[in-house]
Parts: sequence; C-alpha cells; structure tokens
Amino acid sequence: MSAGDAPTPVVELRQAALTYPGTPPVQALLPCDLSIHRGDLLTVVGPSGAGKSTFLNVLGLLDIPTAGTYLLDGIDVGELRDGERTTIRGRKIGFVFQFFHLLPHRPAWENVALALAYQGIPSRQRQSLAHEALEKVGLAHRLHSMPTKLSGGERQRVAIARALVGRPSLLLCDEPTGNLDTMNAEAILCLLDELNRSGVTIVVITHDSSVARHGRRSVGIKDGVMTELVQI
Ligand code: ADP
Ligand code: MG
Repeated sequence: MSAGDAPTPVVELRQAALTYPGTPPVQALLPCDLSIHRGDLLTVVGPSGAGKSTFLNVLGLLDIPTAGTYLLDGIDVGELRDGERTTIRGRKIGFVFQFFHLLPHRPAWENVALALAYQGIPSRQRQSLAHEALEKVGLAHRLHSMPTKLSGGERQRVAIARALVGRPSLLLCDEPTGNLDTMNAEAILCLLDELNRSGVTIVVITHDSSVARHGRRSVGIKDGVMTELVQI
C-alpha cells in the first residue's frame, strides 16, 4: 500500500448475493455493496426471515455468495478451495451465537482454549491465552467454572472470550442478547462496545431496534434487501 491509499477494508461486498437452491429457489440476500472497516461496530437489524443469518453466514464464510464478490481482508473468498476457506475462517472470524454453544462439562477456560486447538499453539500457551481472554470479558474469577454453573450472561461472556482468543479480524454476533434478560443483555452490549473501543471489528445481528442503536453504524435488512440506516 502506498502513502495516501485507503486501508484495505476488513469486509468488502460487491454486488454479493445469496440464493438457496430449491424449487422455487430462495433469494435470501439480494445483491448488496458494503464495506466494513477495521474498528467498525455495525449492527444489522431486520425482522425474522429477513436474511440476517444468511448475511452473517456469508460474512463468516459458512456460505459463499452465489453472485458477486466478497473480499475478506482483501482476499476473494469465492476463489478459495474448501480447506483454505476453513483455515481462513478459523483464523479471521470469531462467532457468537444466541444460544452460546459451549461444551457443558468443560470448564470455562477449556471452552476458550479449545478454540486454539488447531492453530499449533502449545497447550501451556493456549491455557494462558484463554485466561487472558476470560479476564478481558470480566470472568477472571470463573476460569474453572462449568458452563452449567454459570448464568446466561456469564455463558455469553465465555462464548465471546472463545470467539476473541484467536484475535480474529472480525467478530460476528448473531442475536447475542436474544436469550438474555434485559440487565444481562445491556451488560453484554456494554462489553461489545468496550471491545470495539479497544479495536475489535464487530458485526451484531439483531431483530431488536434498541440493540441496533448500539452500533456506530446500522444497516437494515428486509426481504433480503440491505439498506443503510441513518443514525438518530
Ligand atoms: P433471519 O436470520 O433474518 O431470520 P434467514 O437468513 O435465516 O433470516 O432466512 C432468510 C430467508 O432464507 C428465509 O426466507 C428462510 O426461510 C430462507 N432460508 C434460510 N436458510 C435456508 C436454506 N438453507 N435453504 C433454503 N432457504 C433458506
Ligand atoms: Mg436468524
């Protein structure tokens, strides 16, 4: 990159679209253009069935656009073989889901350390990185707790630590507060804000417009059509 060039966006979608095959096919994401830059906090809001998870699956390399182009950190993901895509997903993407998806009978630190299992990091270092990530999400006192003994809010913190421990380029959250009470939901949103201020690039998918207001930037999605929303 020469002086004066804009930095490469983390995400660049150019007329990217996704149609699920079938009879009839489902056009879940219509062609959209979108750039997400390092340090952005983007919320994507829309009703159920709007195409939010489809969009997240595309960003997270779980689905490949059936039309258009997706560049992740400048890499055209449509050009990759399956194995390469899996490797890049593991290195560059952290996922957080509504229902946490933790291993119930492994302590918090192990749930987090397991995310590093395939990265060739020695086990002692995996453990210390897991501890660090759990400290960052406010769970230094719960390293050895089993998920079954943790509250919903704490479980989601473990899931966030797991998503971040490998220092991904992009943190993707699909309805991260959808299974939490108002107070825990608020605390998780504050944590995401804080992580974003420390430099993590985050996309939060939600059907809840009060959650959407946490974004520095919001897009709406309805019937597969994405539109930029003006922040009030
Ligand atoms: P949201 O997350 O906003 O609720 P989705 O992205 O899950 O919406 O779904 C968008 C549309 O795509 C819906 O009409 C849904 O029924 C359809 N859809 C989702 N996944 C598939 C699939 N694997 N095959 C066919 N249609 C799908
Ligand atoms: Mg969904």
